Amino acid sequence: MATPERLTIHEAQQRLARREISSVELTRSCLERIDQVEDRVKAFITVTGDLALQQAGEADRRIEAGQGGPLNGIPVQIKDVMCTRGIRTTCASRMLEDYVPVYDATVVEKLLHQGAVLLGKGNMDEFAMGSSTENSAFFPTRNPWDLDRVPGGSSGGAAASVAAGEAVYALGSDTGGSVRQPASLCGVVGMKPTYGLVSRYGLIAYASSFDQIGPVTQDVTDCAIVLNAITGHDPRDATSLTHEKTDYTAGIAGDSSSSPLSQLGPQGGRFRLGVPDEYFVDGMEDGVRQTLMAAIETMEGLGASVERVSLPTTRYALACYYIIAPSECSANLARYDGVKYGYSYQDTDQMWEAMERTRQHGFGPEVCRRIMLGTYALSAGYYDAYYLKAQQARTLIREDFTRVFQQVDALLTPTSPVVAFPLGEKTADPVEMYLIDVCTLPVNIAGLPGLSIPCGFSQGLPVGMQLIGPQLSEPALLRLGYAYQQATGWHKQLPEI
Ligand code: GLN
Repeated sequence: MATPERLTIHEAQQRLARREISSVELTRSCLERIDQVEDRVKAFITVTGDLALQQAGEADRRIEAGQGGPLNGIPVQIKDVMCTRGIRTTCASRMLEDYVPVYDATVVEKLLHQGAVLLGKGNMDEFAMGSSTENSAFFPTRNPWDLDRVPGGSSGGAAASVAAGEAVYALGSDTGGSVRQPASLCGVVGMKPTYGLVSRYGLIAYASSFDQIGPVTQDVTDCAIVLNAITGHDPRDATSLTHEKTDYTAGIAGDSSSSPLSQLGPQGGRFRLGVPDEYFVDGMEDGVRQTLMAAIETMEGLGASVERVSLPTTRYALACYYIIAPSECSANLARYDGVKYGYSYQDTDQMWEAMERTRQHGFGPEVCRRIMLGTYALSAGYYDAYYLKAQQARTLIREDFTRVFQQVDALLTPTSPVVAFPLGEKTADPVEMYLIDVCTLPVNIAGLPGLSIPCGFSQGLPVGMQLIGPQLSEPALLRLGYAYQQATGWHKQLPEI
């Protein structure tokens, strides 16, 4: 039997309900695991042990009283980009090193309302800018599968904590791949929901038209459970969707039949999977390619039809993202002026100098680079050539997806063209780091849902497969992922630290 800290949400839930374990015991075992491995993994910026035990005690009392939903009493790590009332929220930046929010993000409020136990705040790339968690102003996080390698990013703390068994699940944020890519590199499940499905209220903004919060979990069932908990309209986020609430766990429990995908298509027919040529890029690792090919065969074996499709505008995605995201970031980060909140340079009585020094000392090099790129792209004389062009490319990329989704129900791609790489390998060349996002960025550009699930190993390191669907197709993606997971069991492989 799995040791308590290795329980999934749904396993923990059952054992809590049967009183085979208490939330305090479960929480203690996570905190012990943190004690054992955290000095090597470094997935947390802040550990809130006392608070967690107190919340666990309250959760146990609810269980005694026959109350509490699916997440009651289950320990979670939350990426340090989501505001937690009374708990330091740093965004892994010197700028917010001592910032203690006076309110909870909507997702945090929702989880706490459902009895979640907060273990602490997850490490990340500063302001979520990066793909390796090496841009954290404090320390890098390490990949539990190989401590000399990166966990991916920017939600590296989230993925590493779940892979290492420190947290039962985590919340990350995904602007260009930051939930899916680290999930892929750490061998866990990560989902970026449809834009607007999860409230961004209290999520510290990076690029608002892309940002979306998503679950990092040990399996697809847990992903659905967390999605149930965090979705829903929020009047405090102007881009929050108003559609009816869905039960994402419907149809994904129990054993799947022998060919579950033969009836999962929209009209009860075969599920049609598209494999876009453009996502099997030059520079992709051979082992990743082979693993993906095997996954495609498995999907066919499960009853899906598979066809090659083309999304020709994919080649503009990287450039489009790296114009629009920095542009939005340059506007969003203008608020850090040393006056309202956060770090403030005090050694002068000159206002402009104070502001300049605050930003110079408060932001790390990648954040400065993005602000400068964005300011440049938005400035008079360059706006038309860069920002406007990128917005036009964004429309074309969206239209490509719309067209292809008339032909197929979902797309299957790699999540990342490479497995986890050694720390320091790509820090000297920002463009090389940006290139890792080729397969995940288009999904944010078009506001679509994307699910990354473990699909095998290359060089002994986890490989992730990405399933992309039309807007609000989360139920179908989760069923597809569930069928695959039940047939293969890759998600059950655990790293030894
Ligand atoms: N790696 C991408 C970037 O640096 C995506 C980050 C994210 O999704 N937050 O912008």
